[in-house]
Amino acid sequence: MGEEDKRFLYDLTVPLHPGMVIYPGDPLFTKEFSYSLAKGAGFNVSAITLGSHTGTHVDAPAHFYADGITLEQIPLTCFLGPAKVIEINAKKSIFPHHLIDKGIKEGDRILFKTANSEFVRARSFHPDYIYLSPEAAKYLVDAKVILVGFDYFSIDDFYNEDNPCHKILLAKNIPILEGLNLADVPEGNYYLMALPLKISGSDAGPVRAVLMGEKV
Ligand SMILES: [Zn+2]
Repeated sequence: MGEEDKRFLYDLTVPLHPGMVIYPGDPLFTKEFSYSLAKGAGFNVSAITLGSHTGTHVDAPAHFYADGITLEQIPLTCFLGPAKVIEINAKKSIFPHHLIDKGIKEGDRILFKTANSEFVRARSFHPDYIYLSPEAAKYLVDAKVILVGFDYFSIDDFYNEDNPCHKILLAKNIPILEGLNLADVPEGNYYLMALPLKISGSDAGPVRAVLMGEKV
């Protein structure tokens, strides 16, 4: 077998479609034909509208900071490279004690898999998702990770409008990859490819997030 045959992919991306789950209050996803073969046009062309935080997406520092860097200014190296999927059996919130034995170190790309992966694919929004504690966000900053990924549409407690974890990570230019579907992904080490669209000046943007692994 060649080296190519040993590789496999996990697509972590939530499909974008009208009626998909949207974080409450965010713009809805729409897709309509501007030109349609079915209506006699010579080709199909669609008009697509969506919020910058729709589906699987990356948050840039400009999401919470007026002078923060915007999506296209984040180094692409954050989104391409080795990544660790860490499974956390937290009931409600992730604390530093969930992290200390996980070998998190400088330069890591960390993707958290929680019970959220059971409902990130569900048809309705689930406000009681598991979230990061501010202490855990500080732990990740102190560890000098370069990307934090999460298996729901926010890393912060839905009921805490201060969004402390977003602010703690984005203040240090650590982008946040949200809305990952990690349901089928075992804990372990992979290669991440999660490049956001190059939307100038944006606070966030959609991503096709894929993990590549190698069969042993
Ligand atoms: Zn977001």
